[in-house]
Amino acid sequence: MAYLTLKNINKIYPNGFHAVHNFNLEIEKGEFVVFVGPSGCGKSTTLRMIAGLEDISNGEFLINGKRANEMGPREREIAMVFQSYALYPQMTVYDNIAFGLTLQGVDEDIIEERVKKIAGILGLTDYLDRLPRALSGGQRQRVAIGRAIIRKVGVFLMDEPLSNLDAKQRVTMRYEIAQIHQNTGATTIYVTHDQTEAMTLADRIVVMKDGYIQQVGTPYQLYFEPQNVFVAGFIGEPPMNFLKGTVKNGTIHFGDIPLDLSKKLPSIQKYEGKDIVFGFRPEGIRLGSCENAYEITCNVELTEMLGDNTNVYVNAGSDRAILKVDSHDTPETDADITFSIPYDSVYLFDGETEMVIDCKG
Ligand code: ATP
Repeated sequence: MAYLTLKNINKIYPNGFHAVHNFNLEIEKGEFVVFVGPSGCGKSTTLRMIAGLEDISNGEFLINGKRANEMGPREREIAMVFQSYALYPQMTVYDNIAFGLTLQGVDEDIIEERVKKIAGILGLTDYLDRLPRALSGGQRQRVAIGRAIIRKVGVFLMDEPLSNLDAKQRVTMRYEIAQIHQNTGATTIYVTHDQTEAMTLADRIVVMKDGYIQQVGTPYQLYFEPQNVFVAGFIGEPPMNFLKGTVKNGTIHFGDIPLDLSKKLPSIQKYEGKDIVFGFRPEGIRLGSCENAYEITCNVELTEMLGDNTNVYVNAGSDRAILKVDSHDTPETDADITFSIPYDSVYLFDGETEMVIDCKG
């Protein structure tokens, strides 16, 4: 039996807005699940329904097999870390972390032992006497996490916990959150709009759009086996390149270059006259020629040096694509280059439904 079960969960706000549609998910004990998607897709609403901060309009939420729809937030044994940290400004770091246990009337000695242990894990030992205003953003965030994990709860919810930090702090805190999860083994649901955070932290990712789940899977599955155009474009940085075209004699055109789709999909005649989306990842190409690949010659518009690799923006006819190349192989701007896309690195999607086409079938 799953630890948390969400069965056909819907949220309709009092103004009639249907924010979450038929959300189905089972979460195992100890799993780290990330909800990811663009702003407004319903991630926070779903998290808040799990926390008991928002009513579930219909559907059923179970904790350990027991219906929890009507349980209050405390009864659910869930702790939440918010984007805004929500620390008490007049209280020291020690008191902020201890707060949940103090409220419960836990013995002072036990509180002290637990606060010190958690401060050690989070690198806050030297800051216990400070007020939140005398801390950096990253340190405040660690206090907020400490305050949540000091209560031994079953589930740990985090809503965009890193969004107030700068890029470097985010990387450090991401690592720390992964470490805390390894050390505590707490079931965690984490909301973010950042696909890198999702990919690096999650055991499983739930990709959402417009209130609907698009796909649930491991980071590997989402990257290599995206089920639709949205997931393929959302996971991966830079995003997957898409070329939309109509199949004529088994062929679509990249600019003025014909791509014979039967090489990828022997049964392409089924799609004759229909729209197809041809997808390939910027990092899925090779410069020059190679076997079992589509070969394309095009013009370099712009290059972006990122360190060990470089994004090359190319233009073929009316279509633009990004290629990720080793920086040592960076072509000149305005040069004509040839690159290859191995058939294995090509994804085909139905142009109408935007669902992936099974090319093995
Ligand atoms: P973000 O990343 O911007 O926080 P999100 O994916 O977490 O986005 P939600 O906050 O869950 O999105 O909001 C989902 C949708 O529900 C949005 O379109 C939002 O405008 C709407 N919404 C949120 N709260 C309410 C409310 N109280 N009443 C009506 N609509 C709401």
